[in-house]
Amino acid sequence: MFIGTHALLPVCGGLAVDGLRVVTGREPLFSARGLWIIAFFGVLPDLCSPHLSLEARFSSLSHTLGFLVAIVPFCALAGMVAGQGGRLATAIACWAAAALHLGADAISGGIAWLQPWKPDVIGSYLIHPRYWIGFDAFFMFATWFLVRLMPRLEARRILAAHSLDAS
Ligand SMILES: [Zn+2]
Repeated sequence: MFIGTHALLPVCGGLAVDGLRVVTGREPLFSARGLWIIAFFGVLPDLCSPHLSLEARFSSLSHTLGFLVAIVPFCALAGMVAGQGGRLATAIACWAAAALHLGADAISGGIAWLQPWKPDVIGSYLIHPRYWIGFDAFFMFATWFLVRLMPRLEARRILAAHSLDAS
């Protein structure tokens, strides 16, 4: 998958969770800064080992189970700098963003998840590269839509809370 999907899939997940929370009268979990950090963790495996070929991905240490273990302290740190909102939720979302990256790559060519110990590859081309740009476009649109929707949902939540206070 391309970088747009890796960055925006977890952001859409975070915005969807916050949308559901706000609709049910609760505060959102993720700050704007937190969502940017989540997007960063979504592309982190490719930033750590930029590559074009599938063979290069298979030799990448940032597309492995070991990488997901190694980033846990950095996810905790990311949760702390995320600002207002759910710090633990942001830390978990950062880890999930990197895990989603590996999952997306697994279904779009595969990953050698046990490198450097074993060359075993899991996954395959369930999603052909010709569709990757379509996924990027979809997640760009979905992010744009959810970002525009959130203030409206938040306004409705605040109005509902005030009308409850007044009664
Ligand atoms: Zn990747």
